[in-house]
Amino acid sequence: MSRRGYARADRPGRPATASAGSAPNTVYPARRSARACEGAAVGADIVIIGAGFAGAATAFHLARLGRTDVLIIEREASAGVHSSGRNAAIIREHADDAAEQALLHAGANVLRRGELAAFDRRGLFIVGPGQDEAARYCPRASGRGTWHPDDGTIDVSGLLGRYLEGQRVLYGVTVLDWTHGAHGLTVRTTEGDVDCRLLVNAAGPWAGEVGKLPLTPYNRHLMVSTPMPWVDGRWPVIWDGYRHFYFRPESGGLLFSCCDETPGRPGVYEEDPKILDTLQQRIETLQPALGAIAIRTTWVGQRTFAPDRRFVIGFDPRDERVFHVAGLGGHGVTASYAIGLRAAEIITGKLDGRDDPFGAGRLF
Ligand SMILES: Cc1cc2nc3c(=O)[nH]c(=O)nc-3n(C[C@H](O)[C@H](O)[C@H](O)COP(=O)(O)OP(=O)(O)OC[C@H]3O[C@@H](n4cnc5c(N)ncnc54)[C@H](O)[C@@H]3O)c2cc1C
Repeated sequence: MSRRGYARADRPGRPATASAGSAPNTVYPARRSARACEGAAVGADIVIIGAGFAGAATAFHLARLGRTDVLIIEREASAGVHSSGRNAAIIREHADDAAEQALLHAGANVLRRGELAAFDRRGLFIVGPGQDEAARYCPRASGRGTWHPDDGTIDVSGLLGRYLEGQRVLYGVTVLDWTHGAHGLTVRTTEGDVDCRLLVNAAGPWAGEVGKLPLTPYNRHLMVSTPMPWVDGRWPVIWDGYRHFYFRPESGGLLFSCCDETPGRPGVYEEDPKILDTLQQRIETLQPALGAIAIRTTWVGQRTFAPDRRFVIGFDPRDERVFHVAGLGGHGVTASYAIGLRAAEIITGKLDGRDDPFGAGRLF
């Protein structure tokens, strides 16, 4: 096993500035210090595949529970290249599923304190059932619904960097497969073999392929307008999920989603040439007071779901040395703290993972 690529992520680099056409959330460059590799054993008690919110939050809580012999293997040169760096950064505590709602509540409550990363309690208005007026909170917004003052937006790159602080991360290395030995697993990677006792599949859009699970990544576009003088950066998120549309302030303009959902292939971010027409139509029919909008940046991200759209957190019923933290769908930022905690508690035996509503057994 070559030791090239080891880095301890305790000093996050200066966030890179987003360029037009790329996801705007910042990422941390890999630190490939040769000195950081010295003395590092090529192996770990627990190997985690993926340095997105699933893998990073799990490693964060494992460390808090005293399990520090953990190695994260990340195929990209930095963290947050895929779903965790391509999202809308909204902390929104609302899910149809009661079990997920509990994790969203627990996760959001911690993030709202702002101790892990800067949180903007800008509020969120849900257009739908309810008698409150959206225009009370955002003068350009139309519709009735309910006001949720404690929701808001978070510094996603800051949060991911916080989870990864002090973690041993092997960047630029892809996990290929693994085999069983007398004492555990041998994980085969593009840089050689790594021995471990437990392997955590936190591979995001690749989690289905990696863990042989029925998970599907779905593509979704986000669009950011040019700066507009009438936008107030303190406006809340306006969420019209029933009619597939949301917007919020971003970089002096507005960030939009038409809540599109197209099955995709992991890591393939094809833009739909019709997405701007769809956006214009949604604005005209749902939020006409926004008027004409010029879009500066569009990007695609992937939200990965199990068939029942519930998170997958648990041991693989086919292989007790494999644990999944996957299928985080559209809630992986909001619930990250609670998801990582639940995963770490099951792995360390603090929580009984049998009959867990998120268990992987339901998928077979
Ligand atoms: C458009 C969009 C908007 C969203 N908005 C929000 C929002 O506002 N609020 C919210 O809470 N959530 C939101 N989400 C959801 C959230 O972003 C995801 O749930 C979360 O980022 C998933 O994290 P992850 O770690 O599972 O996946 P990822 O971030 O994709 O991480 C998986 C990592 O695994 C690595 N990997 C994969 N295979 C291998 C391998 N074989 N070897 C080594 N490394 C590997 C990948 O390179 C990747 O870095 C949104 C998502 C999208 C796409």
